[in-house]
Amino acid sequence: MPVEVRQAVAHDCLGGADARSLLSLPFTAPQYRALQADVDASLRRLLDIPPRFRLLFLPGGATAQFAAVPLNLLPPAGRAAYVVTGHWSRRAAEEAASHGRIERIGPEAMARAEGAAYVHITTNETADGCQYRAWPEVDAPLVADMTSDLLTRPIDFSRLALGYAATQKTIGVPGLTVVIVREDLLGRARAYTPRVLDYTRQAEADSRLNTPPVFPMGVARHMLDWIEATGGVAAVAERIERHGAAVYGALEASPGRYRVPVTPAWRSRVNPCFQLAEPAHTEHFLAAAADAGLHELRGHPRSGGVRVSLYPGLETAAVDALVGFIRAFAAAGT
Ligand code: PMP
Repeated sequence: MPVEVRQAVAHDCLGGADARSLLSLPFTAPQYRALQADVDASLRRLLDIPPRFRLLFLPGGATAQFAAVPLNLLPPAGRAAYVVTGHWSRRAAEEAASHGRIERIGPEAMARAEGAAYVHITTNETADGCQYRAWPEVDAPLVADMTSDLLTRPIDFSRLALGYAATQKTIGVPGLTVVIVREDLLGRARAYTPRVLDYTRQAEADSRLNTPPVFPMGVARHMLDWIEATGGVAAVAERIERHGAAVYGALEASPGRYRVPVTPAWRSRVNPCFQLAEPAHTEHFLAAAADAGLHELRGHPRSGGVRVSLYPGLETAAVDALVGFIRAFAAAGT
């Protein structure tokens, strides 16, 4: 997270001249309503979100949305298609299967989504390092988990019915989930849907059905302000594209040393994942990287190996340092 954002958050936590801190801001106060409205407006400006979409700000992380999506969009007699591309889409499908009939399909079999109540994709598989490079064309409302790539590129709202993202990757800290939902999809939740997960009730309550995640909202405001001040989503997209290409370039320069399991057309620009050609060298790589000041590179426990996170706030200097390290480690040989 950029230092400017951390400083602004620290200032809000300490409080200004009247010592009123973000940490004790009641959600019923006009200041909180203004904060939420600010975040709503920033997201709309940054992503060019059309008026027919509502923004909801919900607790429970993206995992809560794995349940909320079928509860709100899947009629009891209906069927939903889940495109399984890795760990997180698998988890989404598993949860949805508790709530109705779902069909798991591969990304090459989108045609099988026809007639489904919706088709669910995970735009960027954070643990596996694969990412849709374009919005898929499907004959059913498209629902997208965008937790790890929201704000890293433009969204084609003519294709999207609902998108959601927990904010801890690209917009701030854990605790808050943004849901962008087309208004005509409201009003369909099953009667037994927990109120806190019911999009319609949350929309009616302006996302304040219960105490919302006030602190993550305060952080999001500053992160969004920073993205806007530094050139918006276009600038983030250009930077991440460049950073991703630099990391893959360094890996491909030493094929004897590193292995990228994802085929080029599917490689994530946000989360390059790779293995050491000799798996026993992984711990040495991670330890040497940490000694060089390069942290949080351990792969997801399910995948092992190395996972790089190129989220919007990351500076090019950090990427340059990583690329230098990848090349030097390869040259050192062990
Ligand atoms: N989807 C994706 C793509 C993720 O990366 C994650 C978490 N990293 C989740 C869902 C789960 O999010 P949460 O832990 O906020 O429930």
